[in-house]
Formats: sequence, C-alpha cells, structure tokens
Amino acid sequence: MIELPKLPYKRDALEPHISQKTIDFHYGQHHASYVKNLNNLIENTHYEKMSLEDIIKNSEGAIFNNAAQVWNHTFYWHCMTPEKGDLPQAVLLKTIERDFGSFDNFKQIFIKQAATLFGSGWLWLVCDKSGKLLLMQTSNAETPLTNKELRPLLTCDVWEHAYYLDQQNLRLAYLNEFWQIINWKFVEKRLEEF
Ligand code: MN
Repeated sequence: MIELPKLPYKRDALEPHISQKTIDFHYGQHHASYVKNLNNLIENTHYEKMSLEDIIKNSEGAIFNNAAQVWNHTFYWHCMTPEKGDLPQAVLLKTIERDFGSFDNFKQIFIKQAATLFGSGWLWLVCDKSGKLLLMQTSNAETPLTNKELRPLLTCDVWEHAYYLDQQNLRLAYLNEFWQIINWKFVEKRLEEF
C-alpha cells in the first residue's frame, strides 16, 4: 500500500505564489488520485510488496505512469518552500556557476527549458556520476529516477494542472512565481548527499 505523503507545509503556505486552491486540487486531487490509482493497479500483483522506487524501476504502462507521478509530485512539493529570499549557497552556487556560467544564466536556461517543454512534463536539475549538473526535460510521467547515472536535485511540474487555476495558460507567469519559492536548501542537501 503506497501512502500519500504529507505536504511539507500548510496548503496556503506558498501564497501568493501558488494559491491554496491550486494546492487543494494539485495535491488533494491529482497527487491523491495517482496514489489511489496505483494502489488499485498493484493490488494482488507482485508490485504490492515493492517500494515506490522499485515499482518505478520495474514497471511500464499505467503502473509506471501512476507510480512515477506519485514520486515526482512528492519530490516537487519538497522543491518549494514558504521561506522566501533563500538563494543557493556555497557548494551549490559554485557548482551552478561552474556548469552554467553564472546563476543568472542558469535561471534563464531553466525558465526557457521549462517554458518550451512541449505538452505535459517536468523540468529537472540533475547531477550525473561525475557531479556535473544538467537540465533535463521529461514528458508526461517520465522521471530521471529510472536512470542510475542521474540524481534528481530539483524539479518543476509544467503540467497545466500545476498552474491553470492561478495563471490559466500562462506557463511563464507560473515559472516566475515558482522560481521565487525554490527550496535551495533542499537542492543543496540532495547534491551533498550524492
Ligand atoms: Mn502535477
């Protein structure tokens, strides 16, 4: 039985950047549905006793889609924080500057790749085995978790359901709000643990 993990903050904590209404639907409906669908799909199968990560690495089709969406969303909630004004520090900042030239340049590329991802998907900051940072677009439920060489550090959900209630079709407006609430301490921790 896969559980819907608790949000790391209250549902209204990301306002005014992301409204409680969006969180109510995105977490309370979309994320919860992926959990419910997954549990229905794995009932009485060999997946039932696996961890979420193992299900993702060993499945395809509907089971993969729902399992990966459960994991991606949980990860996404942790990538945001109500504590504003946070910026990357020390090691993370130096690594971003090394691999993207400057923090401003990184921001521009990040927003551009998230804005131009066609259809539904996710933009990821990952690091490879050598510690190099890379940006990666994935479609639908696809996740870098299936690539042993890559470790996800940060993600942005660019499915329309992530922003439609707040910004309608204006993905760029959502990305500018998302950027202001990135949890850089979380990203840093992910990089250090690698
Ligand atoms: Mn979503």
